[in-house]
Amino acid sequence: MPDPSQDCIDSHLAGIALEHTRDGVMVTDADNRIVYVNRAFSEVTGYTPEEALGNTPCLLKSGRHDAAFYQGMWNTLRAAGQWQGEIWDRRKNGEIYPERLSITAVRDAGGDIERYVAVFTDTQALHRAEEKLRRSSHFDALTELPNRAQLSERLRQLVDESRRGNQLLAVMLLDLDGFKNLNDRYGHAIGDRVLVAIAQRLKQVARSSDVVARLGGDEFALVLRGLPNVDEVEPVAARILALAGAPCEIDGQRYPLSASMGLTLFPFDNADPDTLLRHAAQAMYQAKENGRNRYHWFDTEQDQQAQTQHQLLDRLAYGLANDELLLHYQPKVNLRSGQVVGAEALLRWQHPQQGLLLPGAFLPQVEHHDLIVEIGEWVIRQALAQIAAWDRDGLAVSVSVNVAARQLMREDFVDGIRRCLNDYPEVPPGRLELEILESAARENTLHVRGVIEACRELSVGFALDHFGTGYDSFFSLRDIPAETLKIDQSFAHDVLEDSDDLTLVEGIIDLATAFRSRVVAEGVETSGQGVLMMRLGCDLAQGNGIARPMPAADVPAWIAAYRPDPQWALWANTHWEMSDFPLLVAQYDHVKWVRRIERYLDGATLQLSPAELFDHHQCRFGNWYYSHGLRRYGQLQEFIDLEPIHIAVHQLGPRIVALRAAGEVAQAREQAHELLALKGQILEKLSALQRSVAGTASKSDYPQLGLF
Ligand code: C2E
Ligand code: MG
Repeated sequence: MPDPSQDCIDSHLAGIALEHTRDGVMVTDADNRIVYVNRAFSEVTGYTPEEALGNTPCLLKSGRHDAAFYQGMWNTLRAAGQWQGEIWDRRKNGEIYPERLSITAVRDAGGDIERYVAVFTDTQALHRAEEKLRRSSHFDALTELPNRAQLSERLRQLVDESRRGNQLLAVMLLDLDGFKNLNDRYGHAIGDRVLVAIAQRLKQVARSSDVVARLGGDEFALVLRGLPNVDEVEPVAARILALAGAPCEIDGQRYPLSASMGLTLFPFDNADPDTLLRHAAQAMYQAKENGRNRYHWFDTEQDQQAQTQHQLLDRLAYGLANDELLLHYQPKVNLRSGQVVGAEALLRWQHPQQGLLLPGAFLPQVEHHDLIVEIGEWVIRQALAQIAAWDRDGLAVSVSVNVAARQLMREDFVDGIRRCLNDYPEVPPGRLELEILESAARENTLHVRGVIEACRELSVGFALDHFGTGYDSFFSLRDIPAETLKIDQSFAHDVLEDSDDLTLVEGIIDLATAFRSRVVAEGVETSGQGVLMMRLGCDLAQGNGIARPMPAADVPAWIAAYRPDPQWALWANTHWEMSDFPLLVAQYDHVKWVRRIERYLDGATLQLSPAELFDHHQCRFGNWYYSHGLRRYGQLQEFIDLEPIHIAVHQLGPRIVALRAAGEVAQAREQAHELLALKGQILEKLSALQRSVAGTASKSDYPQLGLF
């Protein structure tokens, strides 16, 4: 038997519980009239029990749900006896609020519905907290602007829209200049207020369809859309920049500001949203680098170059690790003695698809990357291994190796060289020479001096490569104690063309002698260039005219077969004084004069003034002949013989020019043969004069210079 007193206690306890629960409770009868509400019901809805009882729950209807919603609810209730879900109701004060509602149908003993018991929880606070959380993950708390996450999301939509509508989208990234200083100097509170002010300014300038966001710190982004054309972007950017850079007034104090901006334009920059932002940031850093307080466009082409460079770096690193790099060797010889004095190691890349690549095709792109240091070390080790291998075959070859600036400037450069030498103890260190660029050495002469001196203790020598192309070679010589100078190949090439170069080379060789350096002429391509260099006092040479760079395996056979150019042997024993140097120059001046007439014949403009053309005193050769030449060699027959030929040249030259000017090209060409014959006579006489001056004249073997 159930205990009635227990029943009584239970219903009493249930009543207390109902009154004190935080959930609203509403009980209706079978006709859906409210018969009971608890205290929480009144608190949530604002209706007292008196107001609620007798009404239907429609009292609370918010109007947010349609008839079908309620129909569904009833159907479930009847069928399953229970319904639960989220629903919007209305409070007495009209406020609509969300609640989590659970309704249970209570049946009597016969199974008919007797009551409906509804229990609900006001979830508005929960919703608010959720919304706040959502906002804080999408909005910046300080400025209330969208944050980076929200911007990414918006940008994704905007890029899609623009792609569909084929519209322009400008992505701008703005960063305050020197904001950290402002923060440090005036405190974070002021810094924050400046940021809020900037946010407001940007919001003002943006239209409702644009997006303004704060990405963090003092970095803001703007996405402008619906721009009619590209020309519109820059004025807008300038306006935004001016606005953001206007001084900011806080509590009566003015804070000067400026900003830098990077911009990129979709679809010209046809990238995904995150990449667009990254590109704008890249451009912004460039604006900073260019001096701040300005905007800078992202350069798509430049970026592609950077990407290609990145790929090249990766590919080259792979090539280095997989034995695709190799060295070719270009011999260096002594022109006077005919001996081979060494070889320069030159890097090559045996690319599986592109074939054998020269350093110009890949080294410049890695010059500012640490990969060049790795490659440099590999080159030195490879060269040492090669010296050792040749040694084993009984061939003593000295090898010079090019060293990149980045490698040379490393603190541990000398240690690296020492390690390499230790790994090849069989190689005499004196066989290794390091070639460095004058320009690189000048970056930090103190460091380079230290390196050269330390290497000298190891017996490793240095050469200044491409010498003479630096802006102040004299100071390089004084500050950089390299044992060898390599005269840049442009001198060997142009020296026959330009007597100014000739003077320069003479100067370099003089300087080198003064500093007791060895001089090597680079890029000697013809026998004449070799003769000239030798006569200028530079006996060592390297160049395609002697040998092209070749694989290591070909070097021994080449050395065995090497025979110096016969011209060099002929001139080897002449002793040439520098005071006779103008005689050498005069020869090239005359050749140049004739060449200019020839070029005129071929249709070029005439590169001679009327005085130079007509007056045999006024051409450069004539200048020399009637001044320095006459004073120094006036009594020598070879000199006297030159004059009538030279006068004939100046009679013939103007005739050829006149014929060509009158359109008589064939006749002009015929006469040009005569001019060349006269040139040959002048060179012959000059050659004789030069040998006479050098004290080796022997009537039988006047060598033809063979230079031209
Ligand atoms: P470089 O040190 O001045 O080397 C001489 C360059 O001139 C070589 O070009 C050589 O083939 C070329 N050459 C030699 N004789 C003649 C000639 O008579 N006429 C002409 N027109 N050219 C001649 P290459 O091998 O293409 O090397 C170019 C540059 O690359 C080198 O100039 C050097 O600065 C650099 N390089 C080469 N190998 C290495 C290396 O292992 N490490 C580093 N850092 N740079 C290297
Ligand atoms: Mg070199």
